[in-house]
Amino acid sequence: MTHLTLQAVTKRFHTAYAVDHVDLAVPDGKLVCFLGPSGCGKTTLLRIIAGLETATSGTVAFAGRDLTHVPANQRDFGMVFQSLALFPHMTVAQNIAYPLRLRRVAKDAQAVRVAELLDLIQLPHMADRPVSRLSGGQRQRVAIARAIASSPKLLLLDEPLSALDAKLREAMQVEIRLLQQRLGITTIMVTHDQREAMTMADEIVVMEKGRIAQVGKPLDIYRNPVSEFVADFIGLGNILPVTLDGTDRIGLPGGQQIIVDAAPRATGATGDVRLLIRPEDVSMRTVMTDRGPNVLAGKVAFIRDVGSSLEATIDCAGFTLTAATTPRETPDLRVGMPIYAELPPHACKLIAARTAH
Ligand code: ATP
Repeated sequence: MTHLTLQAVTKRFHTAYAVDHVDLAVPDGKLVCFLGPSGCGKTTLLRIIAGLETATSGTVAFAGRDLTHVPANQRDFGMVFQSLALFPHMTVAQNIAYPLRLRRVAKDAQAVRVAELLDLIQLPHMADRPVSRLSGGQRQRVAIARAIASSPKLLLLDEPLSALDAKLREAMQVEIRLLQQRLGITTIMVTHDQREAMTMADEIVVMEKGRIAQVGKPLDIYRNPVSEFVADFIGLGNILPVTLDGTDRIGLPGGQQIIVDAAPRATGATGDVRLLIRPEDVSMRTVMTDRGPNVLAGKVAFIRDVGSSLEATIDCAGFTLTAATTPRETPDLRVGMPIYAELPPHACKLIAARTAH
């Protein structure tokens, strides 16, 4: 069942469109990430859903009810912002109980619910501690407990992890995702971090200049991006300008031709076209006995070896490629050595080039 529906939602600030005719259906119980670069309209769209911002035009409906003109405090949504906005002078329990107090929930029912939530966020022993004396990750959990205290039907998270260091941030991503799945609460999260979106989301909404560039499951978007913008934003990719000559072969910048499974004519691609191949799909060989059409000769220009994974930059004639592997698989790789890079035809995708405006 679709819970939240946006139809042609548009927000103009003076003459500029922050959100431009967005149509979206968010399914029940799923976690959806709004992902995109700074200024693409993610926060504005989330605030319109929350009722904190009024759309210039378009409608927001939840569970079949039109909410477009319903004020934020009557929407019954839980929210966590970048700043968390906890009350520093209050204890953990008082912070979590705050929305219940606002709703005039009876004192003993409040206590039961707070105890339940403290268990859920694994801080039962910290009920009486002022939030000013918590770690970043603990504060994060309290903010989430407070947002879900009154059992909202929709949870809205605006970059809730951006203040945390990398390691804690990764741990909290898993924690929030597991909690969201356990509660089955429909959640929308804004992030500009593609790895965070890939880790947490059932569906990613990639935004570009106020519009939706692509919606889909994380891996579908990663494997089949619809444009250069999406390909570039989601994960590392080799994106090369290519030339089509009406045959099944495509020309690389250095002049060599390769074949791809999705033949150029079948893609319907017109105008400028790019070849996308992900680094993990490029295989490296030091010796090549049977040199097929998709094998390129090059030289290792740089190696980024971080122990668990290894990325090599390969200088080919006219362009560079990045190949990803592991140190175990390629123990003899050295900078400066000649190398063959193979681009399997099935892993080569043709996509439309980014438009200039
Ligand atoms: P970030 O990741 O940097 O938070 P974002 O994708 O969330 O960015 P928004 O904050 O939604 O982007 O902003 C979208 C556009 O709307 C930007 O160009 C921004 O400058 C503009 N904008 C946002 N709020 C206002 C406002 N109150 N008045 C005028 N322009 C605004």
